[in-house]
Order: sequence, then structure tokens, then C-alpha cells
Amino acid sequence: MVKKNPKIIILGIDGLEYNFVKEWKLSNIQQKKYCEVDLSDYKVIVTPPIWGSMLTGSINQEVMDQWIKRSSITGDESAVNQVWWARLGNKILPKKVSFWIWKRFFVPKMGGNLFEETSDYIKQYSERIFLDSFDQPWNNGIPGYNRREQFLEEKEYQNKVFDEGWEEFHKYLVNDYNESVKQLYDCIERKENDIIFWYTKLVDSICHFCKIKPIDLMKYYLQLNQLVGSVQQKCPDSTIYVISDHGMKYEKNAVWWHSDHAFFSSNNGEIISKPTDLYNIVLKK
Ligand SMILES: [Zn+2]
Repeated sequence: MVKKNPKIIILGIDGLEYNFVKEWKLSNIQQKKYCEVDLSDYKVIVTPPIWGSMLTGSINQEVMDQWIKRSSITGDESAVNQVWWARLGNKILPKKVSFWIWKRFFVPKMGGNLFEETSDYIKQYSERIFLDSFDQPWNNGIPGYNRREQFLEEKEYQNKVFDEGWEEFHKYLVNDYNESVKQLYDCIERKENDIIFWYTKLVDSICHFCKIKPIDLMKYYLQLNQLVGSVQQKCPDSTIYVISDHGMKYEKNAVWWHSDHAFFSSNNGEIISKPTDLYNIVLKK
């Protein structure tokens, strides 16, 4: 086998916000051309179904319906109307209490934790993904496709955030990120794969769980910018895409929500308008 750089490298950065990449002038992430990606096809802007739809080229409606049902109670991350009693409950009950009620009564009723249940929905539905069209694909776990194991590990730490604070989870996230970068570099070094899909949830989880403000977030974006730059240097002849599933919007008091757009950039000037377009541009290569 002739060893060479992959034809395509996709750097998937969960929660990467278009406005920050622009404002902080992160030119490596911007690449040759970059754009906002429209998410209006998604009734609920949430991680697993968006990554899943990039891989398969379409939104799984059954999975999306489960998320819509969930959002009608939790009220978050969506264009779905929250039912009145849940809205009232969220308003008057302390956060800890409403979270306890949610976990104790609603999660079992809705068939479990949806983040977990849909972390590998593509496998459950036997859907075809664009990586199947390559001889030697590599990935490190993509939400919606094959990320159940990592999700369960992350959940262990997440569960402790309420009681013990976020520091341990933060440490775990940074270690996990460093480990994933090492895996990516090893993979590039081996020169055995024709397509790489690397994924990190670093900046998404740090915003959600680690009491962070935009200014504190910048250092992680600078790290990511450096990472993209070194991948560009290592693989000058590869097509490189940077993509996110949604951005992050700062509210106040270290509270973040998913923004209504995602991010995309390429080193060859291509752009896309919807997450599902990734499927098509990869396959037409
Ligand atoms: Zn996400």
C-alpha cells in the first residue's frame, strides 16, 4: 500500500461559534473560505441528530420527533413550544428540584436519556454514511453514529457537576481533548487512511458545564486555531473541512445556549449552506 495523506480531512468541532471565529480573526479555522450554516431544517438544535444528518445526508424524522417531544417539556435548544405546566415548573421550582423531577419521572417515561439513546442511532437504523464509500476511513467517535461509549464516560463526570462543582469535569475534558489530538496526529502520521473525521466536544461542553465567560473561552479557540493550522501544514495536499453542528450564544451569568447557526470552512474555497450538504460535497470528490 502506498502511504499518502488522506484525500479528505474533516475536523468536527462541536459548538464552534461562527461569530467568535470571525471576531477573534482565527484565520487557520477560517481557511480559504468560511460561512454560517443554516439550521432552520432542525426543529430542535441538538448535537446527535445534526452530526448524524451530516453523515447520512438527511435528517432522521423519527429521531427528530423524539427530540421534539423532549423539548416540549425541557423547553431548551428548540423552536418547539414548551407545554405550560413545564414552563411554570421551570419558573417556580429551584433548578435542582426541577432537574430531579425531570430525571426521576420524565426520563424513564421517554425511553431514557436521549443523548445516550441517540448517540449511535445511525447504527440502530442501519443508515448508510459517506464514510462507507471510502476504503480506509478513520474517525474517533461521532455523535449519532458511534459515540455511545464516550457519552457514558462523559456522563459520569457530568453527573458530579451539580454536587461537586465543575473542576473535575473540566480536567477530564481537557485531557480528553489532548488525547484526541494525539490520536489525530498518529493517524495522520501513519498515512493509511483516505478520509479522516475527527471530532471534539471540548468547546461545547466547556460552555455548558464549566461556568465560563466568552473571554475565558478564547484560549480554547486559539488552541483549536493552532490545531487546524498544524493539520494544514502536515497535509498540504488534502482537502480540509472544519465544521460545527451549532454555535454557542452567551446569555449571562455563565449560561450558554446553542445558537441558530453552525460553522463551515474549507481550504479549497468550497462552502455549504446546510449540514446535510457535507454528505454531497464529500461524495462528489
Ligand atoms: Zn453540539
